[in-house]
Amino acid sequence: MTTDLAAFAAENGVKYFMISFTDLFGGQRAKLVPAQAIADMQEEGAGFAGFATYLDLTPAHPDMLAVPDPASVIQLPWQPDVAWVAADPVMEGAPVDQAPRNVLKRLIAQAAEEGMHVKTGIEAEYFLLTPDGSALSDEYDTAAKPCYDQQAVMRRYDVVREICDYMLDLGWGPYQNDHEDANGQFEMNWEFDDALRTADKHSFFKFMTKSVAEKHGFRATFMPKPVEGLTGNGCHAHISVWDAPGDKARTNVFATDTTTGSQTAELGLSEQGSYFLGGIMKHASALAAITNPTVNSYKRINAPRTMSGATWAPNTVTWTGNNRTHMVRVPGPGRFELRLPDGAVNPYLLQAVIIAAGLSGVRSKADPGKRYDIDMYADGHKVRGAPKLPLNMLDALRFYDKDKELKAMMGEEFSAAYLKMRHQEWTSFVTHFTQWEKDNTLDV
Ligand SMILES: [Mg+2]
Repeated sequence: MTTDLAAFAAENGVKYFMISFTDLFGGQRAKLVPAQAIADMQEEGAGFAGFATYLDLTPAHPDMLAVPDPASVIQLPWQPDVAWVAADPVMEGAPVDQAPRNVLKRLIAQAAEEGMHVKTGIEAEYFLLTPDGSALSDEYDTAAKPCYDQQAVMRRYDVVREICDYMLDLGWGPYQNDHEDANGQFEMNWEFDDALRTADKHSFFKFMTKSVAEKHGFRATFMPKPVEGLTGNGCHAHISVWDAPGDKARTNVFATDTTTGSQTAELGLSEQGSYFLGGIMKHASALAAITNPTVNSYKRINAPRTMSGATWAPNTVTWTGNNRTHMVRVPGPGRFELRLPDGAVNPYLLQAVIIAAGLSGVRSKADPGKRYDIDMYADGHKVRGAPKLPLNMLDALRFYDKDKELKAMMGEEFSAAYLKMRHQEWTSFVTHFTQWEKDNTLDV
């Protein structure tokens, strides 16, 4: 693990570091710092005017210093004289509580105090578009059922291979790549890891995918629903909890003690796994404010059936076994998949809110409720009593605001800042005039 960035630069021929922090909306903000200046910067951090990003700060606030975490450093495989390093915002010597990576680190520490070490894997789907974003990059990618289309994936082999090669070089353990369910859509999978490491990799994956796509004359987008009528970009998360972090992990706490005879135990989920899942179910509607953070997110969940036959996104708070039509799937012993998050999710807040909801469930011994072993797309209307997911961003923000426990777990300062900034975004959306209004109201 890297501890000294100046030595890292000397050993690897790095000339510049991108000291990068992530704001509330998931934007990655960086300063390019020459290697000669990195030793001081590692101590003190790089200075930013925080209010100029999506953080709830004003021009009157003092400088925000982003202090690099050397353990996260990655040499850019496509530009090896530059290295990216995730940074933690600090102001006047104290962590900025609303900064997403700080929120996640605080929750990881809280879970660790209770002997829980969350590991996750994510599936960050993306589309390849033309540079102006107006069309799919591949005009021949028109099949009605394009999932796993081998001809189409090979037409973008240069992009997919380059990204996968880089992940191999970085030691992420990538193991499969495919054309996904929408025309122009791809997914690449790499091995699960500790929550903070997965969040850093998720951030870097987005940066890398966009950069490689640009190099090839395309534009990669993680937008939740970039094309009307096609399947959206999900960011499913596979979750397990272990007895120790990193390489010290020996026991999957979710996979043991399956003898209770409960509905979760039948699927190989331990009592603690069941409580963790119970927390996710209990807080699901509020969770959506984080996992589905944009106006566009709600065109993915609650969507009508797409041209390929299924939306692949949930609309109700239900869980089941190995069945992709629910919000939570337990595909096998010792882990579960949360299918709610979309491509707009902030990598750090995704991990943070999973830990917050799960920890709350473990503390309160939350019951995940009834397991529905049905096809939700066909028979969802038969389910009685399961909450529907929020219908839009405002709905989700209101659920979050009402969920006092989740707000406190995520941090009061963070929650207030997040709600304020997202409400401003919602107001901006609803105050803009649309053609739809004219089409439907002109002759009223
Ligand atoms: Mg997928």
